[in-house]
Amino acid sequence: MNRGYAGFYNGVYLRSSYEYAYVKYLDFLNIKWQYEVQTYDLGYKIYKPDFFLYDKSNNLLKIVEVKSRDKKAQANAKKKIGEHTKRLWASDSIANQRMIEGLRKSGLSQKGKIKVPREIRICFTCKKEFEALITSKQQVYCCQSCGGRANIRKATLKQMQNREERYELIKQHITDWTCNNKEIIIQTPFNKIKTNLAPLLEEIQIQYGIKDFRIISTAIFNEDRGRKELLQYMKDIANKV
Ligand SMILES: [Zn+2]
Repeated sequence: MNRGYAGFYNGVYLRSSYEYAYVKYLDFLNIKWQYEVQTYDLGYKIYKPDFFLYDKSNNLLKIVEVKSRDKKAQANAKKKIGEHTKRLWASDSIANQRMIEGLRKSGLSQKGKIKVPREIRICFTCKKEFEALITSKQQVYCCQSCGGRANIRKATLKQMQNREERYELIKQHITDWTCNNKEIIIQTPFNKIKTNLAPLLEEIQIQYGIKDFRIISTAIFNEDRGRKELLQYMKDIANKV
């Protein structure tokens, strides 16, 4: 396998397509791994292993050298990973698609081609720093979960905006109706609200799907102040017309 790929995978910078295939392999087997977390002074050289594999309780299982100078071990490991990778590529499966997607997303670039520079951005959701290709302008979240939370936030905001717009329309509707029916409003006693305003309430129900006085009151006052205060509000308008 060539070393033509380099790039980030889950935030870890990998230096070859070979290392990339290896971590895909480990993830596939559900083995926890870390990359170059430790260096060892062996006296005659500084040893910096590639991968640290852990069991479910985070106990170190073993250290793996992908870029090993041990030709035999390297060949063995490569063979194993290569076979697995080949199977994935050949299978035309979801795993295959994921690998292609993974290569694309992680921005692994081919040797000889111009590498897209990366920059540090602040995640809109969690405010943590993350690295992104400078060309991927739309990438403003560090991860899927942060993006998902942002979508929920946007939907909630949209919902609130819709409500405010609807309240504004109801308020306008009541003002218009009051101007067009000011005699009714002026003559309506406070114990005949429901009867006399029935036509208005019906219009509001048909147009906005609201028949609850409390919600209509909220649309006007931003809080429920009851139907009497609503009638008073309308009387004030009617008297001004
Ligand atoms: Zn984030």
